[in-house]
Amino acid sequence: MNIIDGKETARKIKQEIAAEVKKMTDAGERPPHLSAILVGHDGGSESYMANKVKACAECGFNSDLIRFDEDITEEQLLKEIQKLNENPDVDGFIVQLPLPKHIDEQKITEAIDYRKDVDGFNPINVGRLSIGLPGFRSATPAGIIDLLDRYGIETKGKHAVVLGRSNIVGKPVAILLMQKAQPGDCTVTVCHSSTKNLKEICREADIIVAALGRPGFVTEDMVKPGAVIIDVGTTRVPDATRKSGFRLCGDVDFDNVAEKCSYITPVPGGVGPMTICSLMKNTLLARKGLFNK
Ligand code: NAP
Repeated sequence: MNIIDGKETARKIKQEIAAEVKKMTDAGERPPHLSAILVGHDGGSESYMANKVKACAECGFNSDLIRFDEDITEEQLLKEIQKLNENPDVDGFIVQLPLPKHIDEQKITEAIDYRKDVDGFNPINVGRLSIGLPGFRSATPAGIIDLLDRYGIETKGKHAVVLGRSNIVGKPVAILLMQKAQPGDCTVTVCHSSTKNLKEICREADIIVAALGRPGFVTEDMVKPGAVIIDVGTTRVPDATRKSGFRLCGDVDFDNVAEKCSYITPVPGGVGPMTICSLMKNTLLARKGLFNK
């Protein structure tokens, strides 16, 4: 069994991005600029945001964090998004989710100009992804594809089973895996809460991508010997022995599944670090004018 080290892969990719940015700035060009909007003070969102700002510094990007109180209205937030859409110095921006309940997340996602939508959530980018056109790929699925690529894992003709059909992970990763590309060219089955015989379907899988948010869901008896296991799950489970009071749990019963598979991503340190890396890659692409070519 081989561990897929997302932390190390992400470190290398950020180094490559930083080298490209240095070339840009040495040539007198301005570096990429990522803006981020954070509404409220949710603990999880604060720490994700801090990591994104840190990654920008590592890549040599300019970044700014725009904070609003929990009670900002939807109309005010839409105005702020419009300002960023029109700001020529901002290449890409993100609005950290989840948003307070009085704000319609879909409306916000659609208000972000698709040419600056480096999270890849705008329906235009999702649509372009589905038909194989250039666009910003949703960050976590793109990170998974990069891991398969960097580890030289053969995907052509393989049966990939994706557990979960969310718009940010399950659906886009299924689309990328079925794309006529390498990595890609898989035969994909997507499972969800109404799927019958989920265990049997998993046993047929050469690649399992688990994105359910159910700690330890994928057990050893669901895995074919030699399968590739990508664990996207990150559920905070209370843990009194940790300073934070919790630990992150994946969707895979790691200890037992690891012995049976050929490759596996750990949690933490697998898919997680790659997500931020994809955001950096998208921001660099935005700076280079992905949609202007
Ligand atoms: P989500 O929107 O809650 O979607 C979960 C999906 O799993 C749904 O499609 C649901 O089916 C399915 N599901 C849940 N329980 C199931 C069961 N018992 N049997 C079969 N299907 C089941 O979650 P998400 O946003 O995709 O996130 C999934 C996990 O990935 C979470 O732990 C999240 O924290 C993590 N995540 C990690 C990263 C990262 O960077 N590492 C990024 C994003 C998400 P239905 O559609 O039928 O309800």
